[in-house]
Amino acid sequence: MPKKEPLRISSPEAKTRFYMAAAIAEAKKGLEDGGIPIGSVLVIDGKIVGRGHNQRIQKGSVILHAEMDALENAGRLTASEYQRATLYSTLSPCDMCSGAVLLYGIRKVVVGENMTFQGPEDFVRNRGVELVILQDKECIKMMTDFIEANPTLWNEDIGEED
Ligand SMILES: [Zn+2]
Repeated sequence: MPKKEPLRISSPEAKTRFYMAAAIAEAKKGLEDGGIPIGSVLVIDGKIVGRGHNQRIQKGSVILHAEMDALENAGRLTASEYQRATLYSTLSPCDMCSGAVLLYGIRKVVVGENMTFQGPEDFVRNRGVELVILQDKECIKMMTDFIEANPTLWNEDIGEED
């Protein structure tokens, strides 16, 4: 029997996969509740301090996108905590969520994919935020399947008419 090691996440790639997997788990939770499958986690000093998923359908919320939900669930943080934070989202953050990133001074955002939707990435980059786009197959599939099945709900989420 191999000796059981405590969970240790070593390489940066493994860390990124680990946190994105947590964001994907949030997206799936949302989908199970009949919601839009977008998930997000906020990580500070290697620890997930907030998890969230899109709550538009479940709570009838116009502001609780996955990123906003994760920020809300993380609670009030200090400026230096936000500056050390990395936001993971399964989908490219929209204008609102990108605005929250800039407002709180979050310096790094890891994005699952930007094929099905692309937020104001250049604007965010120009403001000094590091963006990492993974083009993760699972993230792309979750959104393409959802949009195909629910085009009206999706267009409402991004503020477009059918
Ligand atoms: Zn958003």
